[in-house]
Amino acid sequence: MKFKKIFLVLFILDLFLSLALKYFSYIGDESLETKNFILNYFTENDIKIGEEYSRRGFVVKIVLEILNSFILFVLVFTKFSTRLEEKISFKFKNPYIVLILFLYSIYFIRFIIFIPFDYYFNYYLEHQFGFSKMTNFTYLIFKLKSVGLILFGISIFSLIYLFLLKKFSKTWVFLVPVTQLIISLVMSFLFPILITPIFYKFETLPEGSLKNKIEALSKKVNVNIENIYVIYESEYSNHTNAYFTGFGSNKKIFLYDTLIQNHTEEEIISVLGHELGHWVYSHQIKDIGVSFFEILFFCFLLNFLFFQFKKENSLNLKEIYSPPSLPFLVLVFMLFNSFLEIPWSMLSRSQETEADIYALDITKDRESFIETEIKMAKDNKTRLNPHPFVELYFSHPKTIDRIRLALEYKF
Ligand SMILES: [Zn+2]
Repeated sequence: MKFKKIFLVLFILDLFLSLALKYFSYIGDESLETKNFILNYFTENDIKIGEEYSRRGFVVKIVLEILNSFILFVLVFTKFSTRLEEKISFKFKNPYIVLILFLYSIYFIRFIIFIPFDYYFNYYLEHQFGFSKMTNFTYLIFKLKSVGLILFGISIFSLIYLFLLKKFSKTWVFLVPVTQLIISLVMSFLFPILITPIFYKFETLPEGSLKNKIEALSKKVNVNIENIYVIYESEYSNHTNAYFTGFGSNKKIFLYDTLIQNHTEEEIISVLGHELGHWVYSHQIKDIGVSFFEILFFCFLLNFLFFQFKKENSLNLKEIYSPPSLPFLVLVFMLFNSFLEIPWSMLSRSQETEADIYALDITKDRESFIETEIKMAKDNKTRLNPHPFVELYFSHPKTIDRIRLALEYKF
């Protein structure tokens, strides 16, 4: 029972950590020094709006976190998963079908429990804060498309998972990371071609001064762009974004129409300078490389833990590829991720800073950089004074740090 006890303690600690994060993100940074700096660029009202938006649905978020952990607890530490598999195998004999139906069942149970929360956060509150433009009908269509895509994903995942873990019982620890690496590379290429069109309408950016400026910028830094697209995010919300995808001569730029509507051309160029920075420093490829080693390490750890638990016989585990082992895998992955979340966020923030410096470097336009940060923070109702503990988990440096960077940058 030793391992089971250790895992129960880790599981509870992880829940407390998530709750603490929610609490601190509610509190924020109340220091006067931070506030005074923010007030150089924003108003008291901007700070208040950011606070209100990040505090939205606080109690519901806590309930959701506890409910999420409770479901995982039931799936891993009770006989629920074993019984569910027995019921399915009673009717179906094919192991692939059993695994797919097992995962579908868990997905639908979770879906039904979480749909009111999803509606509350992604529809009701987003409307209340003036972001969402979805009608009930577009929300329903969006959800149906997501469900279809997830079910398709589960089916493909089940096939690969069973094939690797069942057929290669000794070498799966190497084959899983390699497969994951190939899938990541293929998906980063296929995502804009296959997935984006399911949810968004997009068109090529019309000829004009913006297009000319973008082309001039990419030419200046020797990056070949196949096409520039405008994504119609305004159909769903007012959130703004821009990103780069593809490899080699197949690179595409996607600009949200909301970005084009709310920013000057110089500001858009500043945003693209940042995106070009990610491209030039190969951040995406580096991240895929790092996650390859992460998954490799995880597979070894999982293999070790699985056999320890089996020896201990405390969780009724059969084979690593049996459906009831999957919630256990998810638990190990969740705890493993918890340890790596802060280092991952640190890496991400350092890449964002690198991209920011690159943008300043090639555009030589401090004013537009700062103006973009201000507008984006206002448009997205960003929390301007986040708590330092929560900041550890941020993928991007906080707005005032990015403004500070631009102020201190020497051309
Ligand atoms: Zn970035």
